[in-house]
Amino acid sequence: MKNSTPPVIETHGLTKTYKGVQALKSLDLQVQHNSIFGFLGPNGAGKTTTIKLLLGLIRPTAGSASVFGMDIVNQSVDIRARVGYLPQEPHFYEYMTARQTLRFTAKFFFKGPEKAIEARVDEMLQLVDLAEKADRPLRTFSGGERQRLGIAQAQVNYPDLLILDEPAASLDPLGRRDVLEVMSKLRKYTTVFYSTHILDDVQRVSDTVVILDKGALVAKGPIEELLAGSEGVVYIVHLKGEADWTLKQVQSQPWVGGIKTGQHGDESTWQVSVTDPQAAEAQLLKLLVNGPVVVTEFRRKQYELEDVFMQVIEGGQDVRI
Ligand code: ATP
Repeated sequence: MKNSTPPVIETHGLTKTYKGVQALKSLDLQVQHNSIFGFLGPNGAGKTTTIKLLLGLIRPTAGSASVFGMDIVNQSVDIRARVGYLPQEPHFYEYMTARQTLRFTAKFFFKGPEKAIEARVDEMLQLVDLAEKADRPLRTFSGGERQRLGIAQAQVNYPDLLILDEPAASLDPLGRRDVLEVMSKLRKYTTVFYSTHILDDVQRVSDTVVILDKGALVAKGPIEELLAGSEGVVYIVHLKGEADWTLKQVQSQPWVGGIKTGQHGDESTWQVSVTDPQAAEAQLLKLLVNGPVVVTEFRRKQYELEDVFMQVIEGGQDVRI
């Protein structure tokens, strides 16, 4: 279903050079509808440059891109009418309350009838969990609350695409958690394209990730694939009891790629690599509990995105495209 509609964002060889600095080198990208697309890279990787190009705020040196099928150079006004944007450092009037700020934004950007504005403002305050703080001046707001207000602002006119530039970068863990929660909620309304240099954030909310370094794309794919690297999906299994029969059963499954076995005291430990994660999810645990063993641990191996990041940035070949 994901690929049945044209991509929201598509870039072909998109390049930007600033007086000798190659900020972006021939970027090819596709962002599908209703994805939460994480655009990950260290400082100076070219993330903000890409966002500015997509919004038509700067012009490409070479290559092309479209948003909703419209050209970023010739149709940027039409594109911007359908995009909500949260810049890296949003500015607010400190003396205004959250409600006044959203009202002010809605007066400019909300295309519905005037009398619907208050209802939309209330809806936005609820969405970003600021309803109870709506009437406090912004000078009393925390960094996380400001970012959530910024997301509400960007979302006020029901955009078809929300572009967030480092929405959680400057926040403490709690502030980040709240912002990420808001982003997850938004996926049912819109496509979210956001940049970050924080690996953990991407792991928590994105479904597709691109890794950019020094203006070049170094890896892309669904988060699961990037995290799994070359190993594929692996299950960790710990068992007690006579495990030979169960081992043979598991080994004979067509979706099992291999099993690394070990022994800790009276416990057998297996790492089961699977070639069909859905079949494994449906059948592996059932197979194990059917045998004469006691299953003491069963989980899917978690990968750290940092591992992937280091691999691709520091020259490992596994997930480099
Ligand atoms: P950060 O997370 O630090 O914002 P970024 O990934 O968003 O980084 P960009 O802001 O896109 O990176 O910058 C990419 C490169 O382009 C950097 O080397 C930067 O110094 C350079 N650059 C950006 N804007 C300009 C400009 N107007 N003039 C010259 N160089 C620029």
